[in-house]
Amino acid sequence: MVDPNGDPLASAQLEKAVEAIRAGKLVAFPTETVYGLGADATNADAVASIFAAKGRPAFNPLIIHVASMEKAVQLVEFNDHAKLLAETNWPGPLTIVLPRKDDCPVALLAGAGLETLAIRVPENSYARKFLSRVDVPIAAPSANKSGSVSPTTADHVRESLGDVVDLILDDGPCQIGLESTIIDLTDDVPVLLRSGGVTIEMLERQIGSIQAAVDDNSAPKAPGMLSRHYATSIPLRMNATELEEGEALLAFGGRTLGPAPAVCNLSRAGDLNEAAANLFDMMRKLDRPDLKGIAVMEIPKTGLGRAINDRLRRASR
Ligand code: AMP
Ligand code: MG
Repeated sequence: MVDPNGDPLASAQLEKAVEAIRAGKLVAFPTETVYGLGADATNADAVASIFAAKGRPAFNPLIIHVASMEKAVQLVEFNDHAKLLAETNWPGPLTIVLPRKDDCPVALLAGAGLETLAIRVPENSYARKFLSRVDVPIAAPSANKSGSVSPTTADHVRESLGDVVDLILDDGPCQIGLESTIIDLTDDVPVLLRSGGVTIEMLERQIGSIQAAVDDNSAPKAPGMLSRHYATSIPLRMNATELEEGEALLAFGGRTLGPAPAVCNLSRAGDLNEAAANLFDMMRKLDRPDLKGIAVMEIPKTGLGRAINDRLRRASR
């Protein structure tokens, strides 16, 4: 195990990692569960790079990693169950989903536009050192390309993401090697979203019965297949080539479709990373009851454009 206090090489790496995070870059870091692909959760551009690096065709809400409970309470609203589980299981392989605070600085993209955030304080000592030194919440999914297995060594990360990650902190193999357990405590009834490092029996001994996640069709909810997502309350129309009366415009690129009562541009430069970073903020900004709907211009279906189109399609239904 690397001790960043005693090992000069490890502390030099840690300093580089802090600089990289501050510069909006991606750092792969060890946790006791799996290696994470981390970025400053408050920097929407940096968060967009995570999705680009993973190559997922959809935005999945990311787990937000912090160094302590004190940091966690600044981001989300804790209730009694959450306090109890956090006190007993943190630091450790338990992720808790809770409502965002009104002034939560985490980019909406990190939570895929949801009103809730998944938070965890990992136990791995190198991870904790990294999180306290950067002093910003770190958004991180597992550090692998979409569709491949989660990495439990730095070599796995190198094989999968070596070309896109700016720095890999190496702490040898992960102690648990299994993803964190995810429990949703947003509503009165606790819901298990993913089994993992902490067993449901252990959690039920602490807070009583926990429901298994089911989606609207009563089928088990697979991680990432959230039925709950942000939908605009006014109609949203994709691939618009002209504006209808009273519609707001969500533009992309240098062109416009003419005068509209409200306009946002995802990226004037036609940059998909910038568009992803702006997507959820702009959807919310244009979602006004005084507008007839939102016309969205065509967005290329390459790279991050696939996830952007996926998200807009769900909102347009
Ligand atoms: P991973 O990318 O392997 O770290 O997995 C993260 C998982 O956390 C996602 O697939 C979601 O299932 C879950 N998750 C993250 N944020 C939320 C949230 N706000 N609400 C519900 N589930 C979440
Ligand atoms: Mg994963």
